[in-house]
Amino acid sequence: MAIYIELLVFAYIVDIASSGTIFRAQDADDDNEVSSYDFPFVTRSMWHARPPKEKNPLQTPVPYVVIHHSYSPPACYDAVTCRQAMRSMQNFHMDSRGWWDIGYNFAVGSDGAAYEGRGWTVLGAHALHFNNVSIGICLIGDWSYLVPPSNQLKSAKALINVGVELGFIKSDYKLIGHRQVRETECPGDALFNEIQTWDHWSSFPASYKDLDKIDLTGSQNKS
Ligand SMILES: [Zn+2]
Repeated sequence: MAIYIELLVFAYIVDIASSGTIFRAQDADDDNEVSSYDFPFVTRSMWHARPPKEKNPLQTPVPYVVIHHSYSPPACYDAVTCRQAMRSMQNFHMDSRGWWDIGYNFAVGSDGAAYEGRGWTVLGAHALHFNNVSIGICLIGDWSYLVPPSNQLKSAKALINVGVELGFIKSDYKLIGHRQVRETECPGDALFNEIQTWDHWSSFPASYKDLDKIDLTGSQNKS
């Protein structure tokens, strides 16, 4: 009998570990789940993500965090609109770009919630040549002229800190804007100015022209 109970307990622990439940926020289907995030966190099932076509593992902890804006869809300020924005980005990336899933590892809305994209452990498709060394976070909206609202900035920073705490991002990580590794205006002038004030922002690489000075071995940048 004692052995049987032990086996049951063991199976339960394995189940928790493999499902990643401890890292999940409250889900509509299960209000009793414990969250390790102290900001709203919206899982894939909550925004009704399509399953990925395929996925490659991301080697963690990563040394970089890459900040993006969506440009389009525009900023979203409530749960309904932000979940729609997640679905529209995923549809665009999968159907028009032909990728396996939404490109970003995470997105953050102007509702102050963080949205699970590919997550912490799956290789993203957000910054060519840099996907295998970074977590890509998209601040939903066009931040060329306006800075995102403070709750959106706060949650983006808190999400990065959780990534460090959970061991998916190196504690001495470098924070960069997408334009520092690719010819693009992303993440918009206003947001790019903003992130230069953040703790871990790095002025290097300054542009894609610096990429050959960085070790990006093992890169799998497609899809
Ligand atoms: Zn970008």
